[in-house]
Formats: sequence, C-alpha cells, structure tokens
Amino acid sequence: MIDQLYHHPDIYRIQVDLPDNPLRYLNSYVIKGPTRNLVIDTGFNRPECRQALCDGLHELGIAWSNTDLFITHLHADHSGLVQLFNQQGCRIYMNGIDYQYLLDSKDGSTWRFAEENFMKEGMPAEEIHRQFSNHARAYSPDPDFPCHTVADGDILHLADMDIRVIHVPGHTKGLCCLYLPQQEIFFTSDHILFDITPNIQIWYHMRDALEQYLRSLDKVRDLPVKLALPGHRHGDTSIVSRIDAIKEHHRRRLAEAEAIVKRQPHRTAYEIAQQMTWSMRGKVWNEFPPTQKWFALGETLAHLEYLIHAGRLVRHTEGAVRCYDLPEKNG
Ligand SMILES: [Zn+2]
Repeated sequence: MIDQLYHHPDIYRIQVDLPDNPLRYLNSYVIKGPTRNLVIDTGFNRPECRQALCDGLHELGIAWSNTDLFITHLHADHSGLVQLFNQQGCRIYMNGIDYQYLLDSKDGSTWRFAEENFMKEGMPAEEIHRQFSNHARAYSPDPDFPCHTVADGDILHLADMDIRVIHVPGHTKGLCCLYLPQQEIFFTSDHILFDITPNIQIWYHMRDALEQYLRSLDKVRDLPVKLALPGHRHGDTSIVSRIDAIKEHHRRRLAEAEAIVKRQPHRTAYEIAQQMTWSMRGKVWNEFPPTQKWFALGETLAHLEYLIHAGRLVRHTEGAVRCYDLPEKNG
C-alpha cells in the first residue's frame, strides 16, 4: 500500500507489513526528487517484506541507479533489507554507532551476551531459549555493506535537497532522525511513535538508555514540526503533546517499579517485570509469548537502571542472580 503524504517534495509511504508482529507494519518513506530518490528504512529481511517494498518501489517508478538508502537505526524491521539496496549499488547512510552494533552482532556474540545478562536478571533459561525465534534476530540484515556514516547535525544532500540528521540516542544508541528544515517535516523513526510507546531497552556499551532517551525527547521538543512521520503506525502534525505524554508514561512506570520494590524487596528484575502493568490485550504474564517477556524484561531493566542512577534503588548480586532494593537510608 502506498500513500502520497506531501507534494513538492514528493514524499510517499510504502506500508511494509510485518507478519505476526505486534508492530503490524513498518513505514518505508520515499522522497522522489527531480534527479535522485531517497528511501528511509526497509522492513525485515524476509520474503514478505521484500515483496511489499519492491512492489511499492516499482509502483513509484523508483530506479535503483539514482536511489540512496538511509537507515534510521539498527533494528531489523528498519535495516533488514539493506542488502537489496547494496546489491544494486545504492549508497547507504547510517549512524556509525548502530552500524558497529550490526557488525558486532554478526557472530551472534551480542545475543549471547544479552542472554547471559537476562539469565542473571532472573529470566529462566527455558524462556530465554524459547525466544530464539525473535523476529529482531531471525530477520536481521547481513551487515556486510559499505556504510556512509552520519552524525548529529550533518546536512546530507539527498533526493536533491538538504536534509538534517538529528541523533537521538535512547531507543538505540545510534538512532538518527531526518528533518527537512524548509518544510518542517520530521521523520521520527522509533524515537517518537504516536499510537504505541517506543520500546526502551538496556544496551551494552550504553549507560542508562532511558535517561538518554528522555533527554533526546527534550532535544527535539522545540523543533518546528508541521508533519511528523514515524517508523510505525500513523503520523501527526505536532510532536509536543506526544513527547509530554511519553515522558509522563515513563514517570509513571518509574514510580510503579519503585513501588513494587518497596512492597516486595529483594526481587529479581524478572520478578519485578511480572508485577508491572503491561497492555497486552488483557493477557496475563504467563500467557505472554516468549519474545514479549524478553522485551518486557528489557524495558523493566531500563527503568531499574534509571532508578539506580537516580539513587532511588540499589542492586545486589546474590550468587548467580541480581536483586533490587531501596537504598538503606529509605529502607
Ligand atoms: Zn526500533
């Protein structure tokens, strides 16, 4: 499915369905310039996504020879089909931090590190193994491609126009949004989503992802925006109220995690995650699919890490696992 979202420059959205995934679909944006085109994000590395993207590009009359690709961040639903572009000789732009994560994940070591870490946070081994089919893992890209790395504030001349790169660490460490200053159009990727809340996880080599994410929300709050185009679901004409709502969501989640630890001290992050409120269509924790438990634990850990850095919680290691408590002075 294709929508034209803007005229002069001509901006289109190709809806790339993500089968059996709660995100439902990815928005692949196409800016069709007079001499060159830009595609922003691709969909998973799986045949259904490849077909949807290729059909969309074909329908728009996009030729590979004058098309560039910008990948907003490393997640497989955004970067999965990078080889489709690489094999056609397209130039590929991405932030260097996320590109390095992709390279590091090639031998599976980043997933093994995350599994060992989640085991220490109390997730049972059999549940860790049951999430091996995780889409983020199963449909990830082959990271062997020449990457033109971008950084905050870069002005890229793509699709015959000047486009500003805005680095907003949080959802991933290297996530970059694109901004068209003249039209005040903001491609928000997964930094700001409008009808779902962006997932914030813990990352190795990244201190306090949630704190960085909240700062990155403030970084763009005053940006003049007439049209915000997110990585999933629907866009909006403003970002301010959405940023405020996301910040309020995290403030509530932090208070909830802190209250759980106060009520039930000395629990693992996995036990705390089970007590948190999740909107999973009325499902209770034991009915969550393994991948959902994995993401829920990652998100809980991001909140616990924030609370530790803020001096509101402490973490102990007890044998093979870690557990969480209020600091002595409060407890
Ligand atoms: Zn993402």
